[in-house]
Amino acid sequence: MLPANLPVNLELLTLLFKDLRDGVAIADATEKGFPLIYINKSFESITGYSFDQVQGKNCRFLQGEDTEQAHVEEIRQALTGNTPLLITLKNYRKNGEPFWNELSLSPIIQDDKPLFFISIQKDVTEKILFEQRIINEMHALRSTNKVLERKADTDGLTGLKNRHYFDMECPVRLRIAQRYGLTVSVYMIDVDHFKLYNDHYGHLAGDTCLVNIAKAMLSCFSRATDICARFGGEEFIVFSTDSSRQESINHGQRLVDMVGDLTISHEESQLKKVTVSVGILHLEGKLKSNSKTLIDIADKALYQAKSNGRNQVIQTIV
Ligand code: GH3
Ligand code: MG
Ligand code: MG
Repeated sequence: MLPANLPVNLELLTLLFKDLRDGVAIADATEKGFPLIYINKSFESITGYSFDQVQGKNCRFLQGEDTEQAHVEEIRQALTGNTPLLITLKNYRKNGEPFWNELSLSPIIQDDKPLFFISIQKDVTEKILFEQRIINEMHALRSTNKVLERKADTDGLTGLKNRHYFDMECPVRLRIAQRYGLTVSVYMIDVDHFKLYNDHYGHLAGDTCLVNIAKAMLSCFSRATDICARFGGEEFIVFSTDSSRQESINHGQRLVDMVGDLTISHEESQLKKVTVSVGILHLEGKLKSNSKTLIDIADKALYQAKSNGRNQVIQTIV
């Protein structure tokens, strides 16, 4: 607010602004439409307009169709409310090229009435584009990281969790289960006579077979807390909690049945189809040693299922 008795010397003002690096425009606040009455050289070089071309016009000719309407509204409110404003918005040069304008707008008020609006325009295009590039790169990095994380945990062939994930997750889940007194079931699953299958049908057919077995596993062990992983080669492993002895046997048997029901031809096996054997460790008490022990016990049960004739489930209770 200028003191009431201070004469406003527009000429002196324009002398001050003449050589500023930022673009300066002065609009007459006493006239309808706030026509421009002055622009400095930097305004001309930022916008490409000469004074002759803009004199008497409202400064909104710098706006384009995609200039944010919320920003336009903020400017309108600052002009009608005679309040200063600092805002960054998209504007257009005379040649149609967009630029980011950091606009500082202040009214010169005397006797409670606005005399002029002084706007200072800073071309901050490079800064904004740089910021946008950094943001885009951060987004890209974040999604690459997610993909990498998923890849690091996932078996490339079957889409199940991989051995690395299982080894990391199993001890954590085991501790949680033991703390809450939940039973733990570890299922070791191995494809029967798979070497013969590969030899007869080829490695690619073998891969497809493993993918289909993995799908059966996922539909059999579908609780959110179940971990289904490829343990290596044609061996799979499942970690599951909170089942009774009988339920865990039923689950293992269900998988054996589901794989049998896929009826994948296997000429070299007795049953003429692909089958799996399952060894289960069912933990009801407290485990004294680490999670590796669970896997060893399940593996021994699996070995027994193999020796007993395959295509079956053996459970060991601890
Ligand atoms: P058993 O019933 O005793 O388990 O006999 P098996 O022939 O299944 O067991 P063995 O360990 O002798 O052979 C496993 C075979 O699994 C050998 C290997 O070629 C095959 N195999 C391991 N990983 C892959 C794989 O990623 N793709 C394919 N196609 N075959 C695999
Ligand atoms: Mg096998
Ligand atoms: Mg094996």
